[in-house]
Amino acid sequence: MTQTLDPDSHPDLDTRRVVKAFAGLTAVDEVSFTVPAGSFFSILGPSGCGKTTLMRMIAGFEHPDAGEILIRGLSMAGVAPNRRPVNMVFQHLALFPMMSVARNVGYGLRRRALPRQDIDRRVDEILERVGLAGTGPRKIDQLSGGQKQRVAIARCLILDPTLLLLDEPLGALDLKLREQMKVELKQLQSDLGTTFVYITHDQSEALVMSDQVAVMNRGRFEQVGTPQDLYYDPRTAFVAGFVGQANRWQVTVESIDGDQIRAAGPRGEETVATAIGQLGLGAQVETFVRPEAIVLARTPGELASFDNHLTGVVESVLFDGGNSSVLVRDGRTEREITVALPPAGDLADLAPGETVHLGWRADQARCFAATPERAQGTERA
Ligand code: ATP
Repeated sequence: MTQTLDPDSHPDLDTRRVVKAFAGLTAVDEVSFTVPAGSFFSILGPSGCGKTTLMRMIAGFEHPDAGEILIRGLSMAGVAPNRRPVNMVFQHLALFPMMSVARNVGYGLRRRALPRQDIDRRVDEILERVGLAGTGPRKIDQLSGGQKQRVAIARCLILDPTLLLLDEPLGALDLKLREQMKVELKQLQSDLGTTFVYITHDQSEALVMSDQVAVMNRGRFEQVGTPQDLYYDPRTAFVAGFVGQANRWQVTVESIDGDQIRAAGPRGEETVATAIGQLGLGAQVETFVRPEAIVLARTPGELASFDNHLTGVVESVLFDGGNSSVLVRDGRTEREITVALPPAGDLADLAPGETVHLGWRADQARCFAATPERAQGTERA
């Protein structure tokens, strides 16, 4: 059967129940997902969860044991890496240090034996698009880390790939540059309209840049959604724990009313929370509450309308501008709870040793049905 490339009727990437095992260890376990044209899709997961293996199969460096990978509707089975409409940017960039920026960027077109003038013109165009106009004659080691990053991307984009695969490309940069590059990469992707598939173990990178994020754990996708979906509506305990910060503790389910449960902690303390999935009476579950979902007050009366309350003592105030937080030791359970703190306002002078009251709503505390253990050898780092 002849396959045709029809960009209008197919997603740029369509991965169907892809499996890859190494010596009995299933690194990628029946992963299916689609990436629409022009979007920024991230695969987020801890070290060893299978991200790179999945990416290498899309690029053609590994072959799936089962399943299918299609790019714009075309099966990639048996298609060599250099014949796929895909380019990959690696963490260590793999630039040629002795060559100029222009020669690095033009490398792929020289291999395709394009006329020199065409190469020069396209190199200038692409350097301009990535904000590096005029840097063509420079040597790679005369560039900053962020500029090298953009050269690596330009070198791929000049080949006009359907998909640009990026494997932890910001991992080698220092924190400040990484923060800046997150914003730049997102902007670049939306200006270019090229489909990006980005892998990372850094949830902030995935949340800031992506249209859709897949959270990967032990070879499988736990949840695929927008950054907001994953943050505000995690469907599994793994996603709730991996994406964003959360307070979490064990409770036992005592009563169930629709999706609301009452549960008790080890010291008999009551929690009212929302059940995600089917929870049984008597089940031991973890409850998750985000630091910013907890309201802190100096008098308990201010918190009367909340479903959950506790009284504790401020252990420390972690001032970090708009990301400031307070660690509160719960008087009853001795548990340490992180609460987001507005940097200005009535609570700005809060000090260690002060007694405070905390409150949060039942719909802000989530408990998850246990995920059945899978027979897979990968471990969370
Ligand atoms: P990291 O973020 O650390 O790069 P990752 O999520 O990209 O991790 P992979 O590199 O895909 O994870 O590895 C997934 C699992 O498969 C790991 O347990 C790894 O040891 C194993 N693995 C990967 N490649 C091979 C190989 N060629 N031979 C044997 N095992 C492999």
